[in-house]
Amino acid sequence: MQPQNALLSATGTTIFTVMSALANQHQAINLGQGFPDYDGPEDVVRAAADALLDGRNQYPPMTGVPELRQAVAAHNARFYGLEVDPNAEVVVTSGATEALTACLMAVLNPGDECVLIEPLYDTYLPVVKLLGAVPRLVRLSPPHWDLPREELAAAFGPKTKAILFNTPMNPAGKVFTADELAFIAGLVQRHDCYAICDEVYEHLTFDGAKHIPLMTLPGMRQRCMRIGSAGKTFSLTGWKVGYITTDRGLAPNVAKAHQNLTFTTPPNLQRAVAVGLAKDDAYFAGLSAHLEQKRDRLAAGLARLGFGVLETKGSYFITTDVRPLGWNGDDVAFCRTLTEEAKVTAIPVTAFYASEGSPDHYVRFAFCKGDHLLDEALARIEAWLAGRGAAKRAAAG
Ligand code: PMP
Ligand code: GLN
Repeated sequence: MQPQNALLSATGTTIFTVMSALANQHQAINLGQGFPDYDGPEDVVRAAADALLDGRNQYPPMTGVPELRQAVAAHNARFYGLEVDPNAEVVVTSGATEALTACLMAVLNPGDECVLIEPLYDTYLPVVKLLGAVPRLVRLSPPHWDLPREELAAAFGPKTKAILFNTPMNPAGKVFTADELAFIAGLVQRHDCYAICDEVYEHLTFDGAKHIPLMTLPGMRQRCMRIGSAGKTFSLTGWKVGYITTDRGLAPNVAKAHQNLTFTTPPNLQRAVAVGLAKDDAYFAGLSAHLEQKRDRLAAGLARLGFGVLETKGSYFITTDVRPLGWNGDDVAFCRTLTEEAKVTAIPVTAFYASEGSPDHYVRFAFCKGDHLLDEALARIEAWLAGRGAAKRAAAG
């Protein structure tokens, strides 16, 4: 038989699926894959249930049901002062995952270069390559995740068509500052290219950190494709409803990419997400306050157990350094052992790096879980560490 698609054959199963399967196998508490173990707002879920039963279950309009496009536009105006035409500048997709691919498809030709920032989300690199484009990787490193401005500038050149980046950033918990965004905007303008902005964690910021869409910076309105996710904004990750806000000049191609990927997204869920986006400011403030408290709970617990806990200003995730625990192996071995022995699952941060020589002693924990589960996970890790300490002392003594 002839070989199948070479790129897909060479791509492994995503780390999130691998670690969730391992967690199930070992009945471990899953602090790996980023999904809440609680449901989203009841009124939103109920709106979806009602919408299933009111007889509107056929294909919705390709770019999204009007009420959701209007809600996305209103949300942009309310939170970011962006004026958006709901009929010409919003495309609803089946999750941010589809949105990312649609935006890349909308602008990249084979041979075009696309700047990507490591640590990177798992779909970015395979999709850029599948489109025949050339990734240019720029690395952020723990513990501070500073933007290496010279390297970033050097990654842009005459063939650059786009940059794709994520803020608030998974797994770094970094929220790009106004100054960093201005630097990126300068490069995008100087090189006459586009920006694909993965902003799925836009409402999950902590300590007063403010999420700023690149699209709001001067000169960026026509160049940005801004991606949101109902999964993250309403703690309903299985729903897979994403939304792209972009200029009317870019929206037609984005829509044509969507037309070729899924064409539409379930109308009932779209209508419920429209209800969600219209919720009052207290909902959005409450969402981040709720997660900030969980971040604090897990961060304090992990620090007490001896992990090197990195700062997290946004997202669902805490990155930790496992060397202070006396762990001499790499992050992959740590996560495997933690699952098998402590019965707690985390994600090795090397999974977010594609280039050689990435840091290999950092591990990501998701804190979007019930407090009892976070506490139980900490107790299990504590017992495991105590057992390892005792075993070491016995071997030495
Ligand atoms: N981008 C990032 C950075 C993510 O962490 C996720 C996680 N789900 C996605 C995109 C995909 O979002 P969705 O579930 O809406 O497809
Ligand atoms: N975004 C989630 C995470 O980073 C996982 C999503 C997925 O499993 N594809 O954990």
